[in-house]
Amino acid sequence: TPDSVNIPFDNSYSALAPEFHQHLNPTPVSHPELIIVNDELAAQLGIEASELRSEAGISLLAGNSVHPDSTPIAMAYAGHQFGNWVPQLGDGRALLLGEVIDTQGVRRDIQLKGAGRTPYSRGGDGRNWIGPVLREYVVSEAMAALGVPTTRALAAVTTGDHVMREQGALPGAILTRVARSHIRVGTFQYFAARQNQTAIEQLIQHVIARHYPEAAQAENPTLALLDAVIEAQASLVSHWQSIGFIHGVMNTDNSSISGDTIDYGPCAFMDTYSADKVFSSIDRGARYAYQNQPRITQWNLVNFAQCLLSLLHEDQEEAVKLAQASINRFDEYFVAYYLQRMRAKLGLTTEQDDDLALISSLLTLMENNALDFTVTFRQLTHRSASDPFAPGGKLYDWHLRWQQRIDLQAEIIQDAQDTAQDTDEDQLNGKKPAIDPALLTAAHEAAIKLMEQSNPAIIPRNHQVEAVIAAALDNNDFAPFHTLLEAVTQPFDSAHENGIFAAPPAPEETVTQTFC
Ligand code: AMP
Ligand code: MG
Ligand code: MG
Repeated sequence: TPDSVNIPFDNSYSALAPEFHQHLNPTPVSHPELIIVNDELAAQLGIEASELRSEAGISLLAGNSVHPDSTPIAMAYAGHQFGNWVPQLGDGRALLLGEVIDTQGVRRDIQLKGAGRTPYSRGGDGRNWIGPVLREYVVSEAMAALGVPTTRALAAVTTGDHVMREQGALPGAILTRVARSHIRVGTFQYFAARQNQTAIEQLIQHVIARHYPEAAQAENPTLALLDAVIEAQASLVSHWQSIGFIHGVMNTDNSSISGDTIDYGPCAFMDTYSADKVFSSIDRGARYAYQNQPRITQWNLVNFAQCLLSLLHEDQEEAVKLAQASINRFDEYFVAYYLQRMRAKLGLTTEQDDDLALISSLLTLMENNALDFTVTFRQLTHRSASDPFAPGGKLYDWHLRWQQRIDLQAEIIQDAQDTAQDTDEDQLNGKKPAIDPALLTAAHEAAIKLMEQSNPAIIPRNHQVEAVIAAALDNNDFAPFHTLLEAVTQPFDSAHENGIFAAPPAPEETVTQTFC
């Protein structure tokens, strides 16, 4: 077995000014054991998975040794937690080991989560336990497979140590996660609150070079950056809405500048659809309920914009106007992305003014009839005689409307084709040719194909995730974790459609609250 691990580190964040971070090594653990290595992701990062599985690799993943080219740091940031300003947060249990340039040329952070105390730990122990580690692993990998921008999971280890939580002593674990960066709205807020203009300028330059290089060419790069982040975040939250994902802790310190889903805590996918659904045990005011997620994203972006004001324009009144106009574009971006994703879920490649009404009425019917979000969209995709869209079903009338809309789509497609090949004679006669039945069938089939790729058959359901954690906790059995992971990382595969992972929870299995 290899006695060293080759990781092609190329670190840039640790080279920023000293106030951006604290340099420190992870705190060693007693007896690390490997849970999993993500082969596909390791390959993408230019790392041999077999080296990560070796003793030397496990030692790195546990923080018991530090790679010679790693420069471990805890990143500084601040943030609004549930709307309350906290001037200093920072990585209290995470350490950035460094960055690598992946096979696609993208710079990626490699971070240990649960690697011990840091100067930002406040009252915390700097540790993690297998519950949150397995949840983040499964959910973030499922999100990636669903096409949602997200941090990824590279590996997980148990530590051999115990961690004290409300539930008692729990087995410690460390997640190795990978991100385009861990720069947050809260990173900007940290320096803005300290009126550290130089740091803000350095951060803007770093972020533009790393995530939004087009902004560098703009007349006002800071404004172009603001607009780009607003668009990326609007797109992200539209994606969450389209799959029933509830982040749970959308604090500004958990809101990424790259527009990726980060910091999976008490997050959850909805089973039964309900617009005001909340799972997180710490979200007592329902601030981060499903239907609030777009508004909260915009609220977080207002805080981001405020950090940029001094650099948007010399004249602060003008700066506020520019920022306001940019923030106002959020709604446009959100609606456009939301419609694009929800249309795809209905098989629509054409646009009609009342598409939003068609989508909303389906959601209302799902809510009123307590239907499962994921299953309902998949039933629309692959119909069966006993589903709620069938004659006599609760969604039958809605299905007639949808059917008409799909027929209209076939007509629109045929019209477009006819116009392209119209003869002068047809135009003179003003004749509208009858719809070709073969084209109607083809349009339906195309719609179903799009829906199969837009409506997952399986998502990581809370009761399944809880069962995986319970097996690991009670019996040291990680087999259910591997099985669930395998399934949720092929979310559109029809093979799973009628399997156990597609099924909503039985009433007694339903999870109503999640903890971190
Ligand atoms: P979160 O809500 O999980 O994003 O964390 C908010 C802040 O609390 C961040 O600064 C974390 O680093 C810190 N934190 C959370 N859990 C711990 C822990 N067990 N030990 C130290 N710091 C923690
Ligand atoms: Mg937080
Ligand atoms: Mg966080």
